Amino acid sequence: MTFEPAAASRAPRLLRHYIDGEFVAGATTFPNLSPVDGTEIAQVCEADEVAIDRAVRAARAAQEAGWRSTTPAQRADWLQRIANGIEARFDDFVAAEVADTGRPVTQARTLDIARGIANVRTFADLVRTAHSEFFETHAADGSELINYVTRKPLGVVGIISPWNLPLLLFTWKVAPALAMGNCVVAKPSEETPGSATLLAEVMHEIGLPRGVFNLVHGHGANAAGEFLTRHPGIDAITFTGESRTGSAIMKTVADGVKDISFELGGKNAAVVFADADFDAAVAGVLKSSFTNAGQVCLCSERVYVERPIFERFVAALKTQAEALQVGAPDDPSTTMGPLISRGHREKVLSYFRLAVEEGATVVTGGKVPQFGDHRDHGAFVLPTIWTGLPDTARCVKEEIFGPVCHIAPFDSEDEVIGRVNDSAYGLAASVWTTQLARGHRVARQIETGIVWVNAWFVRDLRTPFGGTKLSGIGREGGRHSLDFYSELTNVCVRIG
Ligand code: NAD
Repeated sequence: MTFEPAAASRAPRLLRHYIDGEFVAGATTFPNLSPVDGTEIAQVCEADEVAIDRAVRAARAAQEAGWRSTTPAQRADWLQRIANGIEARFDDFVAAEVADTGRPVTQARTLDIARGIANVRTFADLVRTAHSEFFETHAADGSELINYVTRKPLGVVGIISPWNLPLLLFTWKVAPALAMGNCVVAKPSEETPGSATLLAEVMHEIGLPRGVFNLVHGHGANAAGEFLTRHPGIDAITFTGESRTGSAIMKTVADGVKDISFELGGKNAAVVFADADFDAAVAGVLKSSFTNAGQVCLCSERVYVERPIFERFVAALKTQAEALQVGAPDDPSTTMGPLISRGHREKVLSYFRLAVEEGATVVTGGKVPQFGDHRDHGAFVLPTIWTGLPDTARCVKEEIFGPVCHIAPFDSEDEVIGRVNDSAYGLAASVWTTQLARGHRVARQIETGIVWVNAWFVRDLRTPFGGTKLSGIGREGGRHSLDFYSELTNVCVRIG
């Protein structure tokens, strides 16, 4: 299967599940529409409970048949083959991601697919070099004991991922799950089934044992996603998506007391002190607010700027936001693509209207661009900046997940830390300052899982990743992923 960019190809394809080493169709399908112009790019099979059950049973059988007994070195070799397989079909993956999301081709090449490959290679390296804990114990009765920790696979892991960075977030979970000896049943978002289907093709091409990796397509609530989380044969669920979906999944898995790892929503803040490198801060906030049309969980929708530079900062960000080229992915001048769907655009536009009702000043954007061509059937909005809202406004409190930020002035370090932390979410923050001590001081007081100082979206894959409060449960990344995807057993041996 070869994908073309949405604008270039109009022939719908059938995207099938991959269960027990075979591509299988389902009884029903749904259309996958281009966010660029609304045309149909594929028909996608919808997994029913029978298909989910088959996939979970296949994963369990593969686990018992020997995947759980493979050595870390063998699994690392498999992961390297998977990474090589993605690399060999790099252009197909780029085209699939671009078709599903409408993002600029350059971004798909340099971020999405490149990071997908890096995820797989990183976990190959990590599992090869992982080591164990060891403790010597002197008991009260004078005896000596040693403790060491062994890792075992969890079993069958259910993986549910979102649409905003499809292959990147999918591999972020598939790779460590396989690395630790688990078999998986993975469901990509119904909005972005393309690159996951290609990944299944890669698994097939490299001869990964049947049932180790199973792909099921479909929707979430009362559909494939929920059937997967409800299935008693799943040992753990790892989920990235909206906080309220996380909450629904948590209720579903509660009866089975299953392991969960949740990477959820955010309402992230950027804090710009007057002592910041002004140009670097403007460029950084431009990126953090508008990358991927604001559809990165780490994007900053709340920007706090110290009062002496507030007006200048707003003017500079406005100029740069207006210079972004909103358009189709096949246009090389495009720097910002559409939102994922018309449905998501409705949500974002409802916040554009709400902001005005709540008293915002629209500095720029706040509406749909008019192209006068096929793109008017797509899901585009303009990059948008607001000022003038109180911290209590819904537009400052709720995750919008679009190319939009609200900029507010602040007067002191303590004040801004309090305002940043006054959020139901706690995923990420960025701080812009040239004062070294201030950067560290503020970072340690911010209640998020990630804080960048004079940077944004730089992710060393060995570091912990995750959020506090509504933004998630647990951490993945590096050894934290190895911990989540394995069962630890402490072995305690009397030696004297
Ligand atoms: P979503 O929660 O609507 O859907 C995510 C996945 O969950 C999809 O595959 C969907 O089919 C499935 N799903 C939906 N309802 C389900 C249910 N009841 N049971 C089982 N599965 C269900 O999220 P989305 O709109 O695809 O993605 C955007 C959201 O993801 C944003 O909130 C964003 O902040 C968040 N996100 C978080 C991170 C992170 O690392 N913290 C990363 C990326 C995206």
